[in-house]
Amino acid sequence: MTEKKTVIIGAGISGLLCGKRLVEAGHSVLILDKGRNIGGRLSTRRTDGAVFHHGASSIPDFYNHKELPEFGLEIFKRAEKERIIQRKGNLFQPINSVADFVNYCGTNLNIRKSCEAISLNLYNKTIVVKCRGGVHEKTTYDLLVLSIPPNQAKTLINKQINKFDSLIEKVQMRSSAAALFSFDINPEHVKEKHFSNEKVLIQVENNRFKCEQQLFCLTVHTKEPFAKKIVKNDKNTIKELLLKEIIDIVPFSLPKPTYEAGHRWLYGFTERPLGNPYLYYKREKVGICGDWCSGSTILDAASSGIKLGEQILNL
Ligand SMILES: Cc1cc2nc3c(=O)[nH]c(=O)nc-3n(C[C@H](O)[C@H](O)[C@H](O)COP(=O)(O)OP(=O)(O)OC[C@H]3O[C@@H](n4cnc5c(N)ncnc54)[C@H](O)[C@@H]3O)c2cc1C
Repeated sequence: MTEKKTVIIGAGISGLLCGKRLVEAGHSVLILDKGRNIGGRLSTRRTDGAVFHHGASSIPDFYNHKELPEFGLEIFKRAEKERIIQRKGNLFQPINSVADFVNYCGTNLNIRKSCEAISLNLYNKTIVVKCRGGVHEKTTYDLLVLSIPPNQAKTLINKQINKFDSLIEKVQMRSSAAALFSFDINPEHVKEKHFSNEKVLIQVENNRFKCEQQLFCLTVHTKEPFAKKIVKNDKNTIKELLLKEIIDIVPFSLPKPTYEAGHRWLYGFTERPLGNPYLYYKREKVGICGDWCSGSTILDAASSGIKLGEQILNL
């Protein structure tokens, strides 16, 4: 174990795999995430008897991803072997839930959930963190990794890295909206897996693995340009608008939902990436990774995190 402590802000797939790479090489790593769960945009929401996937749910073919380092390929191959994910045509999908895959990626990592980094002092190497219940804490580090979307990185760096703001100006992220609903209908009676129109894609959730479960659960993803139009609304309005779409599209009548929620992904998808696999600032001892560095998918995020980890190991 090295004496140096690396703090990673963000437990999305890029932060988790960066952490895994470092921990497997003997580094001491602490990962902080503001969410109640890890995984970031690989997101699973559980309610009474229902499981929803309102973020990413399909992994591109990792056997054919040119940028994925060997370490990452092994992780995805092992997930397939352990029956956490399975091939569906050109893609891989979690067998039960995205959370299973995320938890598999987070095994053996020291992660603190519900801890939001609210400010950084790169000179003193300190982070102010707001934890559960609003408690503020200070944490120090030897090396810092930011595995968060570009605008959030910009806010935290707060001009302490020369030219960072202008560097990431060319990166473009797209927002999106989603909503989750469960209905007191036996899911066995519904054969379809998807419904769609030009505005939305409705995903019928596979809750069958929860055997006690008898709810019909739908996640509504929005398509462009409708997503752009509605994402400015609050979550409640998003939910109402998307419920209307469901009622129009699903070819049978639905009772009042037993669970309903709207969701906004402010930094949902990369439209224009930075074009570097990661960023590393030697003087400030700060690394930055995420899908937006070189692409837009889970594998781009994974590659970015692992490559940054390997750069840190070579220092
Ligand atoms: C609706 C949707 C569907 C998608 N579908 C697919 C798909 O099917 N296949 C695919 O390959 N890709 C898909 N994507 C893209 C994919 O989700 C992303 O490329 C990938 O998950 C990005 O991972 P990341 O680690 O770079 O970032 P993120 O997953 O965004 O992780 C960042 C983490 O940082 C945390 N964080 C942010 N700020 C702070 C802070 N100040 N303090 C502490 N923690 C902080 C967040 O809580 C989050 O957990 C989809 C994206 C969306 C939005």
